[in-house]
Amino acid sequence: MNREEAIEQVYSGTAVSRGIAIAPVLVAGRGLRAPEAFSISEAHVSSEQKRFTAAVARTRRQLSQLQTQMEMVSGTEEALVFEAHSMMLEDPGLTDQVHSKISERLQNAEACFYAVMQTYLEAMRRVSDSYLQERTIDIQDVCERVLRNFADDEESVASPEAPHVLVSYDLTPSDTASMDRSTVLGFVTETGSINSHTAILARALGIPAIVGIDQITLAVSPLTPCIIDGYSGIMICNPTEQTLDRYRELASRRLQERAELESLKDQESQTKDGHHLTLSANIEFTHELDFVREQRAEGVGLFRTEFFLLQNEVPPDEEAQTRIYRDLAVGTAPHQAIIRTLDAGGDKLLSEPLLEPEPNPFLGWRGIRVSLDRQDAFKAQIRAVLRASTAGNLGLMFPFISGVTEFRRSRALVQQCMEELEKEGASFNSELEIGAMIEIPSAALMADHLAEEADFFSIGTNDLIQYTVAVDRVNNRVANLYRSSHPAVMRLIHTTTQAAKRAGIWTGVCGEMAADLNLTPLLIGLGVDELSVGPHDLAAVRKAILSLNLSSCQELAAKALTLPTSFDVLELSRSMARDSYPGLLKG
Ligand code: PEP
Ligand code: MG
Repeated sequence: MNREEAIEQVYSGTAVSRGIAIAPVLVAGRGLRAPEAFSISEAHVSSEQKRFTAAVARTRRQLSQLQTQMEMVSGTEEALVFEAHSMMLEDPGLTDQVHSKISERLQNAEACFYAVMQTYLEAMRRVSDSYLQERTIDIQDVCERVLRNFADDEESVASPEAPHVLVSYDLTPSDTASMDRSTVLGFVTETGSINSHTAILARALGIPAIVGIDQITLAVSPLTPCIIDGYSGIMICNPTEQTLDRYRELASRRLQERAELESLKDQESQTKDGHHLTLSANIEFTHELDFVREQRAEGVGLFRTEFFLLQNEVPPDEEAQTRIYRDLAVGTAPHQAIIRTLDAGGDKLLSEPLLEPEPNPFLGWRGIRVSLDRQDAFKAQIRAVLRASTAGNLGLMFPFISGVTEFRRSRALVQQCMEELEKEGASFNSELEIGAMIEIPSAALMADHLAEEADFFSIGTNDLIQYTVAVDRVNNRVANLYRSSHPAVMRLIHTTTQAAKRAGIWTGVCGEMAADLNLTPLLIGLGVDELSVGPHDLAAVRKAILSLNLSSCQELAAKALTLPTSFDVLELSRSMARDSYPGLLKG
């Protein structure tokens, strides 16, 4: 087989999570990708036929092992699927067809096997029987397994257990959440955008990542050595020694800069003129708490619960949730940890399968809408938070609030849960703060009324921006129109902070904008009291706060509110950021 010459190749995409990773590529397959086809001589026909037989035998052995494992875990019925897969491979007709294709076409075994399987799949797709149509997935599955097993030398297949850079067409937020940081050193995808939950999770886990490199799964081969530069969005395959040296040096420089930033961690997060801002962390899992404490965050401003609630088929019950929220409360004490109730839907998993896919998931059954429709699950979550609330300082907030009615209904359910717990003799903190996320423009516009009912606001800028400027946050094609500094967004944030101040409640920002150092002067000037950011961004945001003056930020914000375009607003804020902490803004 002709292997490509190892020439250095550079691909460019969108950097979504900072850092540098140097490791071989592991390509995650999606759908059935054609294997490489090449010609063989007559003399090799029989050895190719034997390779096919060997790949099938290896596959059947694996399937039988899987069947045994599955039987132990879930019982015989679930395990039967592997037996059915194995039976497909026993079909003598399949072997005959592949063998004759090899001798007729004089091509390698995997290409001929793939061609035969394509005919099977096509035939099944054409029948109108939906049961048979669904079985195409099983055939694809078996086919992929056999194709993987063609590698004579199993060592030549990148192993997910060895450190690697994952290259994939796309990754779901749950794929990312379950990544093992010790083996996935970085990832690159063809689709995606900077504000998707996949990107947010990569930043939370500190995994360097690039999205939007078109056709990258086809362009790279498994095991290709590569560098990913999560600062500039560049992936370099087959890097030369010189390039490797340059990147090793860059990585160590970045580490040193990080150490310098972290040396400020014991300083209170306040501006030069003495204005304190609460600097807290966004997390998805309690195992992140050690790092959060180490970075001296002043609490958890956003605990996204959907990842642990939806990662298994059966969500944790009230007891199991209570334990997790207790760990959170204890791990964050004496500071506050704000638990956001389930925000299913959008680009995240749904809490249950729908009969029909939603035409527009971001405008669909998401966040508080799901919780209010599924009150048993919602109440179990609220009760668990309340029962854990005596272990520390917990707060609760609701996502995707569009107006006063939803907030009232949610708060009333909290009241109901409190009454039930009281009757049961369970203790809880009846004073726990209950807030509203402001992430839909209608909520921002109703902030004066909401402020009368909520104990705090937390502005979810990721969604607030997408709904204000009508730009899907996960669609890379329109990513350049997703403008955090849009004047309309500034006005909505201002409306929110002003309403909160009049009502005597506080406002935080927990969207990714809170960590955008270009915009820190603006957020402070607009009157935000808390910035909640990914744990890896705490050090840089602390340094930015320490370098700014509240009074200058306020003047800047007043001016920004008069400007007509996103560009004008960004430039204004960026110039103050550049003057105040020039070293922080380079990539
Ligand atoms: C937001 O929308 O800004 C937010 C913090 O919530 P999420 O990113 O989970 O939608
Ligand atoms: Mg949101």
